[in-house]
Amino acid sequence: MKRYNTLNDYFKTTFGKKIYKVSLDGGFTCPNRDGTLSKRGCIFCSERGSGEFAGKRGDDIYNQIEDQLKLIEKKFPDGEVIAYFQNFTNTYADVEYLREIYTKALSHPRVIGLAIGTRPDCLGEDVLNLLDELNKKHFIWIELGLQTINEDVAKKINRKYPLETYVEATKELNKRNIKFVTHIIVGLPYENEDDPLNTAIFAEKCGTWGVKIHLLHVIKNTMLEEIYNRNELKLQKKDEYVKKIVKILANLSYNIVIHRVTGDGDRNNLIGPLWSLNKRDVLNSIDKLMKEEDVVQGKYKIERG
Ligand code: SF4
Repeated sequence: MKRYNTLNDYFKTTFGKKIYKVSLDGGFTCPNRDGTLSKRGCIFCSERGSGEFAGKRGDDIYNQIEDQLKLIEKKFPDGEVIAYFQNFTNTYADVEYLREIYTKALSHPRVIGLAIGTRPDCLGEDVLNLLDELNKKHFIWIELGLQTINEDVAKKINRKYPLETYVEATKELNKRNIKFVTHIIVGLPYENEDDPLNTAIFAEKCGTWGVKIHLLHVIKNTMLEEIYNRNELKLQKKDEYVKKIVKILANLSYNIVIHRVTGDGDRNNLIGPLWSLNKRDVLNSIDKLMKEEDVVQGKYKIERG
């Protein structure tokens, strides 16, 4: 067992078994990409809308699930999976289209639930009603790309919605008992040392069920690459990153599900930090520091009361 409440542990406790996720591309775009809010997107967003390992765009959802299952066939030949709508903004479409693709994913015999990545400004009443309906019958969660609560940084990364929008979305999801995961990025340009920590604490106050903590990756052909080339971004060092993660984990209650504490970089397009490609080493370093400092998730939270 890890010193923090991993998604794997959550699955084992809740379903009594290992469950994988299969990443799907529902053919969506994003209001921050299609010109509605901006054409440039968030500065770190890649050409595939932050879903490098998902199924093939344009393919039928059922076929994408089959293809993704083939990729994990050896290590996971017959278990159940969560269908993860990952690329771009997965609630940004007509509600009938959403119903069609979510239902199609749920119709696969090995799919036991859905994870849906979106922006908090793309959860209108009709979408919330659909999610509410699905949530009553299936295991689902929503993923919200908050990244930071620092409003200046949010503007500089071109997130294109204010913090209040996240707060409102969380109230609507909480009202309907729909679980949500908050994405947080460590290492954003112009951020203060404790911004990621404060973002995680804020997300817990808003009722987040889980957090997904990413290291900021500089990917080719993004606005971030231009910032990096202008020498306006200092890449995170591994030790700094590991310390920040341990501090965040120590300050979150143990019941918050930790979906991720590092990123899965696209090896071919990653400019930096290159140390993040050795994911195993990053995870081991986090475990090691937690052990050395005798930290478990929630330790400082308990001490704070
Ligand atoms: S909201 Fe997501 S998909 Fe849209 S630009 Fe930002 S990172 Fe990309």
